[in-house]
Order: sequence, then C-alpha cells, then structure tokens
Amino acid sequence: MSLDQPAIDLSPRVSDEVRKTTCYMCACRCGINVHMKDGKVAYIEGNKDHPVNKGVLCAKGSAGIMQHNAPSRLRAPLKRVGERGSGEYEEISWEEALTLATEWLAPIRANAPEKLAFFTGRDQSQSFTSLWAQGFGTPNYAAHGGFCSVNMAAAGIYTMGGAFWEFGQPDWDRTKMVMIFGVAEDHDSNPIKMGIGRAKARGAKIVGVNPIRTGYNAVADDWVGITPGTDGLFILSMIHCLMKAGKIDLDYLARFTNASVLINEDPKSDQRGQFLRDDQGQPLVIDRATGKLAPWNGVGVEPDLSKTHRAKGITHRPAFHLMAEKYMSDDYAPEAVADRCGLTPARIRQMAAELARVAFDEAITVDQPWTDFRGKHHDRMIGRPVSFHAMRGISAHSNGFQTCRALHVLQIILGSVETPGGMRFKPPYPKPATAHPKPHGKVTPGQALDGPHLGYVHGPEDLLLDENDQPKRIDKAYSWENPMSAHGLMHMVISNAHAGTPYKIDTLFMYMANMSWNSSMNTGGVMKMLTDKDEDGEYVIPRIIYSDAYSSEMIAYADLILPDTTYLERHDCISLLDRPICEADAVADAIRWPVVEPDRDVRGFQSVLCELGARLGLPGFVNEDGSQKYADYADYITHHIRRPGIGPLAGFRLGENGKMQGGRGDVNEAQLDNYISNGGFWMEHVPAECSYYKPFNAAYQDWAVKLGFYDVVQPYIFQIYCEPLRKFQAAAEGIGTRQPPEHLRDQIKATMDPLPIWYAPFEDSSVDPDEYPIHALTQRPMAMYHSWGTQNAWLRQIHGHNPLYLPTAIWEQHGFAEGDWAKVTSAHGSIVVPVAHQASLNAHTIWTWNAIGKRKGAWALDTDASEANKGFLLNHLIHELLPPKGDGLRWANSDPITGQAAWFDLRVKIEKTRETNEAKPAMPPLKSPVPQGPETLVWKVGT
Ligand code: SF4
Repeated sequence: MSLDQPAIDLSPRVSDEVRKTTCYMCACRCGINVHMKDGKVAYIEGNKDHPVNKGVLCAKGSAGIMQHNAPSRLRAPLKRVGERGSGEYEEISWEEALTLATEWLAPIRANAPEKLAFFTGRDQSQSFTSLWAQGFGTPNYAAHGGFCSVNMAAAGIYTMGGAFWEFGQPDWDRTKMVMIFGVAEDHDSNPIKMGIGRAKARGAKIVGVNPIRTGYNAVADDWVGITPGTDGLFILSMIHCLMKAGKIDLDYLARFTNASVLINEDPKSDQRGQFLRDDQGQPLVIDRATGKLAPWNGVGVEPDLSKTHRAKGITHRPAFHLMAEKYMSDDYAPEAVADRCGLTPARIRQMAAELARVAFDEAITVDQPWTDFRGKHHDRMIGRPVSFHAMRGISAHSNGFQTCRALHVLQIILGSVETPGGMRFKPPYPKPATAHPKPHGKVTPGQALDGPHLGYVHGPEDLLLDENDQPKRIDKAYSWENPMSAHGLMHMVISNAHAGTPYKIDTLFMYMANMSWNSSMNTGGVMKMLTDKDEDGEYVIPRIIYSDAYSSEMIAYADLILPDTTYLERHDCISLLDRPICEADAVADAIRWPVVEPDRDVRGFQSVLCELGARLGLPGFVNEDGSQKYADYADYITHHIRRPGIGPLAGFRLGENGKMQGGRGDVNEAQLDNYISNGGFWMEHVPAECSYYKPFNAAYQDWAVKLGFYDVVQPYIFQIYCEPLRKFQAAAEGIGTRQPPEHLRDQIKATMDPLPIWYAPFEDSSVDPDEYPIHALTQRPMAMYHSWGTQNAWLRQIHGHNPLYLPTAIWEQHGFAEGDWAKVTSAHGSIVVPVAHQASLNAHTIWTWNAIGKRKGAWALDTDASEANKGFLLNHLIHELLPPKGDGLRWANSDPITGQAAWFDLRVKIEKTRETNEAKPAMPPLKSPVPQGPETLVWKVGT
C-alpha cells in the first residue's frame, strides 16, 4: 500500500539575504541575523558566532520585527502648536526643525551654557552624546544611570575597578556556587540565562537572594527571600561569620587589597583615618620580609596584615585591624540581624558556611604561571570557586552604595575576584577609580566645558560647587547632597529645574527618556512640572526638545520633536569608550547599521547631533573652516579620534604598512564594512597568561596598554577601605577647608564610612512603619525591557497587564480572592490596581512588573487596551523627595552618597476595594501625533 502524503517543503527559503547586526530590544546587545526578503525584514535569529549570545535569542529579540514595524513610530519632525500636554503638533521639515533648535540653543551657548540641560535615557552612545554636551559647554549632562544602578557601578569602581554586567561576570565555566542578589531578568539577560544553564549542567549550585522568586530566582537551587533593603545587613553578617571562623583568604587580602595599608589612628590628627603615604604619595604597608615600611607596590614587597607602625607618637594600623573590629562585633552577629532581614540566624550561618566550604574546601587550580606587579612569580592560579552577581534589587535603595560595597568586600575576603571560578572582569575593565577622569563643571560662555562631565571624585576638593558653595549642576550631582554621583541624577533634573534650584534653565533636551511616565518618580507631579506656567504665563521650563523613535507618553510634553529611527535603520557603535560587549575571555565591540532604510522622514539622533553640533559651531563638530566635520554618525564612528590611535571602534584599525589590527591604530575608511563582513562585531581573545588576576597581573597590564585600554600600566589593589569616603567623613567632622552645610554633617558622618556599613533605608524613618508596613517593588519582566515592549504586538500577548502580586500572609489577612482589586497607599499617594496571589514572596513584600501600564492614547494603542486600563505604574506612589520631617527641609529620596534614586525603599499599606473596572489614577487620554494602530497588524514579506 503506498502512502499518499502531500509534498511539504520542510526547509523553505525564508530569505534572500541575511544581514548581521546588533539587537536593541534590550541593553544586552546580542548579535542577530536579520533575514531579508524583497528588501524587508522577514525574521530575526541569533548570531551563532557572536560573543555575547552565541546564537541564543530571547522573546524580545525575535519580536524586534514588530518593534521595527510598530504603528507608534514617529514619522516626521514635529512642532508643538497647542498647549503643552495637548498633543497638538504640526509636521515640519528637518530644515525647519534644525533651524528652530539652533535658534533656541545658540543664544544659550553664547551667554549661559548651563541653561541647557541635556540628558539621555537608555542611550548606548554616551561617549558621543557627552562629547556633544562638552562641546556645547553645559555642565548639565548625564544618562540614566542615576535612576538605574549607579550604586552598583560606582561601588564596584571605587572598590575593585568594576562591578557586574558590562564590567564583570561569574566565571560560569569554573564556578561551583553562584549567588545572585537582586537580579531581575532585564540586565545582562541572555548571558546570565546561558551562564546559569552552563553552571547548572556542571552541577554548580545557584542561590537567589531576592524578596521575589521569579525568573533566575525561580530556577535557582536555593532561594533566600530577604526583606527589601536589608541585603547589606545579611552580607555583613556573613562576613562576620567568615571572619569569626577564620574562613578568609589572608594571603589574597595581604597581597591584593588595601587591608594591609596603614591607617592613621591618631584622634587628634587631621589625617586620622587616612593612609600613611611616602614622599611620592604612595600608601605604605609593612613588608613582612624586612619588617619595615614599604610602598604597597614596591618590588618584592610582602605586605603584612598584622603589624602596626608607631612614629612621632602616632599609631598606624593596617586596615585589616579596622575590618576585624567592625565586622567581628556582635552588631553583625546573625542573632542580631536575622529578624530584620526576614531570615533566621541559622539560615545566615548556613549560607556563610556554604560559601566557606566551596571557596576553601573545593578550591581549584589552573596550571598557568603568572607574574604579579611586584615581580613575584606564581606557578599556578588558585581559584575560590564561589561567584556573585547583583543588580538593581540591592542598589536602588538609600543604603545601596554601601550594600554594593559590602557585597564586593564579601567576594574579596573569600579571594574570589579575578581568580578561577570567581568573578571575572571584562576588558577594558578592571579600571580603578583613579584611572577615570574627575568630573568637570567649569562653564565659559561660547566655549566647551573644561573636561568630561562625569567621573570619580576623590575628596571634597573635587566637588562641583561654585564660589558660594552651591551646586554647579542642575541635578546637584557632585554636591554635598550626593558627593559621589558618578552617573548624575536624571530623576532630579525636572524637579530642580521647576523649583529653580540651584538655578533655572532655558531648555531641557532629552533623548529616549520617558520622563512623563515610567522613567520618573512622582509621575503626575512631573507632568505638572512640565506644563506649569509662571506669573507671566510662560512655561516654568521654557523649552523642551525631545527625541524618540516612538509616540511615547513623553511626546506630548515636548515643544520640538526630533524623530529617531528604529534600531534596524541606524548606525550605532557599542564602543570600548562606553559600555562594550566584552566577555571575560575576550575584548569585543560591535556596530549597528541600517539593514533597512527608513520609510519615514526620520533620522538617527546621533546623526542629527552631528548636524546640530556643526550649526552651533561646537568644537569637535566643525572643521577649521567652520564646515560640518562629520556628515553623520557613521562618519563620526569611522573618523573620530579620542586619543592617538584610539577611536570609537577598536576593531579593524590600520597599523604599520596599512595592516589591519585591533586596539590602537589609524583610521580605516572601510572599518564599518569590515565590521559588517565580520558579522557586526570585532573580538580579540585575552591571552591565557592574562586570564585571571587582571589588576595585579603584569602580562595583562602590558596587554591592556597595547590594546589601548589605558596608556601606561597601572596595577592597583582592591580598596576595601575607601579613603575618598573617609575624606568626606572627615570634612563633616570639621577637618579641612571645604566644609559641608550644617544640615548635612550628621548624614555624611553616618553614611560615608570608609568600610562598608548598613543603615536602615531612609523611608523607614520618614514614614511610620506601623502605618505603612509593606514593602513594594517592581521588576522588569524577561519579555519586556522598556516601555517600548508594551506596544509590541507579540510581546503584549505575554504581558497585557500587570497585577500586583501579594504574598500568602497579606492575601489571607485581607481576604483577597482571584479577580479582586486593591487600593495601595504610600505617604505620597494612592493607586487602585488588580491583585494576584504569589506564594514565593517575602512575607512583607508586594510587587508588580514595571513599565507595562500605559497612558491612554500613547504608543498608538487602542484606548481600550488592557495596558491602559488594567495596567498601572507603581511610580505614582514614589516621590523624588522624602515626606517632610518637620525640619523645614525635604530630603531627597536617593542614596546620600551617589544620589541613586531609592525606588525600592517604598513602603505602603493595602486594602481591598470595590472599584474594579479601571486602574487608578486614570489620566485623561493623550492626543498622539500618530494614529492608532490597526486592529490587526498584518503584512506579507515576499511572494
Ligand atoms: S537578551 Fe536583549 S539583546 Fe539579547 S536577544 Fe534578547 S532582547 Fe536582544
């Protein structure tokens, strides 16, 4: 009997051509193969050769096709013709748009450049946008790190020269235990998924520390459901247990950290708490071989952790003594802290014991000789195979900087940073704080700023204060309020500009920052600030220029809109000067390029800045004859020289005799073509002898200079004891000429401890914890990175709205049932939202997915869309300032050291409500400059 089966082509030709570029559906920057048919995008798959994702593609990445074709895409430049917020616009030409922008900006530059505040959101071209702002001359530039994760980044740089994600990662192939703290699924998404998969396949244990058990925490082998804001206490208690048990790597601490550096102990000395230094300014240790003082980096020096030094009546002790005193005290005993953390003492001891067992009883070695910066030869590399990863969950608190520092110190005392099986840096990191620039803020009308805006301060002398000790920046970064604000404070710009403190501005220029919705605390308040008028009937913030690819909630509040392209229509460079795509074993960078041409009158924002910069005559953007220097962003990427031999892209540069090389080299006119032919990226492997111990490894230092990460070798030791923090603390004690204002002295003294400490989140003392007993959090879902995701026709099917998840105890206490709604109230406001039950939650924590709720009328969605009716934002409950305390001041709802927005300090109360038809507050619909999308999104590619 013959089978009569239809002939099916099981491998139809899906594309005529594959174009390889870089995904931008989230910030991970995976390599993608874009399949083209008849000149249109047919589908997207992962690039198997790419260092970041090795072919893996997530739901977001494959849904890029819907992002590229989204009905909400802006179509042409727009000029506001109605009142701000009305959504009344007229389309104008690019010539009109650029003329208008130039007319607005040129007088500001000529007279008072600080009156321009230029801030960018999820921008991946910060080394370029900052150059533009520097050329303009305004001190008011930053990207979104201040409300994202600056605590993690800054604590990492100040302590070890880098933290996680772009800076470092667990040694996934050798680690035996990975602890993740406060990691949701948005940052470093595919690499973590792949890493966890590989580690688990080898039998490594994954431990998730998070109040919420979803995503990575759901697949973890063990889950610690900690109370929000107490991670630092838990970590310091584990440090207590490890130090008491003697389970710390003393050799590593002595050689590679400043635990051995001598600290002035004289209570009467102006230098108390600071390092003892030699005439060259180098911190001193005691050499075990000689028993004498020696510079930390002296050839052959063997630093001692125990001996003290007394001279001229002053005792100097190694920082290790101070660590032992602080962390072995009963204050950090598990019995003293467990309750506060929502854990038991036994649980803390168990976690510490497990770390110790894996680090020391299961130590590994790699037979790779290496030589350290003191010239000592080591015949192998010893690994402590415990590793850590952390993200916003521990950093978005008012104690986040010190919590992140505590986590780094935990890794360091175990000897598990830059050793096999531990945490590994990704080139061009590690880079200590001293290798970064200091912040600059000197304004000269008509001229460029005196240097880069953002950097790392090393004491009060580096603060950006004017002659009256007032902040030079509109966001008050690098002021006494937040001295180490390495990423600026984007979340304070509109609030400060509206209040006119420290001064009023003329123009707010923003890129990809949805400030009137999910990118602001106090969302309703921000909308009001953007539309408020003064007594003369003029807007308090006189002009707003905004660039975005989509009709977001922010569009209605701009006066001039510069429409950006989608990520498949543009050039980008993911640069070593910025946030590169490197792996621990390889240095790498990448590009995006227009795999499709825009079908609308839109332009890549960076190309627009090239032209606007030329029209304004900004240094770096014009030739000597005044003509435009870079035709567009692609031209800049190819031709810009940052330092001799160093450009935005490190790959395919020209060496001697025109030979292609990576790292340093001359401009290569064909560089972008070379990237395209290579799959959109460039990569060079780290040599084997440089694989670990990078900050201390002489071979790595030489390789880093050869590649251009820095110009001279600069080995360093980890800064467990952070002297810059001590200098600020000393100022608050009255030492030095630059003094903080009286009202900030106590806060600086209490929080800027040079050794990591824990203090309660500020909201705990600003609101009554009995009245607001519940912690409220948000997380980004794995399927959506930004508010962009909520318009995506495919991704909306995964998350159409975002219930508020309640733990069993709260669910039962209030008698909630499926389908119920709740009123949630903070000290700042109330929301009405649908609820759902989740058992795997800290008992005092409620939470929801972030950025799913939409304002009606935005993103070309139907006003009946579930996102705009059942979806909601927690942001309405959070204010950028803490509630009044009766001292006449409103304190910032931020980390007092870095200024990071303390989103996760929020406390609320909850009650059942009968209002069940619409999430509240329900803002009136926005009028969008683009029409609502069709009921069904359909198009055909090919025949
Ligand atoms: S993880 Fe991010 S960059 Fe990678 S495929 Fe998914 S959306 Fe794209």
